[in-house]
Amino acid sequence: MSTILQLAPQNVWKHFYSLTRIPRPSGHMEKITEFLVNFGKRLGLESFVDEVGNVIIRKPATPGMENRKGVILQAHMDMVPQKNNDTVHDFTKDPIETYIDGDWVKAKGTTLGADDGLGVAAIMAVLEADDLKHGPLEALITKDEETGMYGAFGLKPGTLGGEILLNLDSEDEGELYIGCAGGIDITATMEYKEEVPAADLVARKLTLKGLRGGHSGLEINQGRGNANKLLARIVHDLLIEFDCQLSSFEGGNMRNAIPREAHAILVFNPEDIEGLEDYIKEYERQLNEEYTPIESGITLTMETVSLPLAVVPEEIQDNLINALMACQNGVMRMIPTVPDTVETSSNLAIVIIGDGKADVRILARSSCDTMKDFLSDSLTACFSMAGMKIELSGAYSGWQPNVDSPILHAMKLSYKQQFGVEPAVKVIHAGLECGIIGANCPGLDMISFGPTLRSPHSPDERAYIPSVPKFYDFLVATLEQTPEK
Ligand SMILES: [Zn+2]
Repeated sequence: MSTILQLAPQNVWKHFYSLTRIPRPSGHMEKITEFLVNFGKRLGLESFVDEVGNVIIRKPATPGMENRKGVILQAHMDMVPQKNNDTVHDFTKDPIETYIDGDWVKAKGTTLGADDGLGVAAIMAVLEADDLKHGPLEALITKDEETGMYGAFGLKPGTLGGEILLNLDSEDEGELYIGCAGGIDITATMEYKEEVPAADLVARKLTLKGLRGGHSGLEINQGRGNANKLLARIVHDLLIEFDCQLSSFEGGNMRNAIPREAHAILVFNPEDIEGLEDYIKEYERQLNEEYTPIESGITLTMETVSLPLAVVPEEIQDNLINALMACQNGVMRMIPTVPDTVETSSNLAIVIIGDGKADVRILARSSCDTMKDFLSDSLTACFSMAGMKIELSGAYSGWQPNVDSPILHAMKLSYKQQFGVEPAVKVIHAGLECGIIGANCPGLDMISFGPTLRSPHSPDERAYIPSVPKFYDFLVATLEQTPEK
C-alpha cells in the first residue's frame, strides 16, 4: 500500500498510483494504451484508439446538462524516463516508486511522471465519477508528447466533437494558459573554397564563456547574452581594427538553448597584433558592464595557437560575419493583447564556420503564425544576402491567445468564487500540444492548467500536494459551469 493513496482527493491519487504501476516512457505506449482503453470500457464508455495511437473516451452529459458545449479533457500518457546515475530502474518494466516528503510527492531516484500522470488521473476521476454535473465529455489522451508531440500532430480533424479543450499539462496551480508559441527551424548553409594563409602569419584563438544561456523560449525575454551574437560582434570589430582573417568559428550546440560559449580562430600579421591583448581585455570589461546585472563573469580570453591550414576567403568571411551581425536575435515583438509576454523571438543557436563550410542554425518562435512566417522570411532574406542556402523545417503552429474566450471568462469567475483570488492568465513562449491540436481542429476554445509540479523531466520531479485538490475542484467546477451551446 503506497501512502499516496491516503492523499486528497483520493479518487485522483488512486488513479495516479495505478499509472505509476504501468510503464509508459515515451515510445513505449502499448501497456498504457491498453490500460486506458480497458478503463473506459469497464465504465461502459465508448473507448478507442485513433489511427495515430491516441486514446479517446466519450462520456455523455449528465441529466439536464445536455445543452452545454462539449468539453475535451486532454492530457498526455507518456512520461520522460530520467533516473539518477546510481538508481537501477528499467522504465519499460519497473513501476515508479513514490514517497511523500513534506508537502511533496516524489519518486525514488526517477522522474515521477506527474507530468502528465496527474492530468491523466484527474481525467480518469472525472470519467469514473457519478456525482458530477457536466456536459458531453471527450477524453483525449495523447501519445508521445515528450519526444515530439506525435499524438497531437497525428490527430485527424473531425475525430473529436467538443468545442472546448481543457489541457491538463501545465505546472503551476493558479495559472491559466491561453496561448503558446509555435516554432520553425531555420538552417543557413554554404560551402566555400578555403584559402591557405601565408606562412608568416600568427594565429590566436578567442574564447567567449561564462554566459548563463537558458531555454531559448522561456528565457528569451531576460536579455541574456547570446555567445554567437557576441562573438560575431567581437570578430567583426577585430576584422576592422586589426586587419585579420577568420579561420573558424564555433558556438552553441542545441537549437533550443541560448548559446553560452563560442570560440573563433583568427590569423594576424605579427606586426599588427600590438595592442590586441589590451583590446580583448577591454572588450571583456565592456561586455560585463553592458550585461550587469543580467550576466556576471563573462570571460573573453585569447591564446596563441598553431597556424591553421586554411582561412575563410575575405569576401565570404565578411558576408558571413555581416549576416551574423544583422540577423534578428532575441525578442522581436511582445503580444499586443497580453501584457509583458513575448510573442515572437529567435535564437541564433548554432554557428559553425570552418573546413570549407558554414552552418547557421536558428529556432524562431511565435504564438502568431503569420509573425512567425515574417520572422523566418526576414532571417531567410538576411542569410540569402550572404549567399547562403536556406532550409526551413520542423515548423509547428502556435496557439494565438484569445483574451475574449468564453471558457476563459467562465474559468476566471469560477476560480475567484472558489479561492477568492483571480487566477494568473498567461501565454507560454514554448510549444504545447494545444498549438498542434488547435491547428488540426480549428475553432477550439482552449485553456491549459494543472497542479503545481517542480523540476519535471528530471529525477527531482515533484508534485505539490496542496495544489492537487485545488486543481481537481477547479476542474470539476469548470465542467459544471461550461457555457451553453
Ligand atoms: Zn507534460
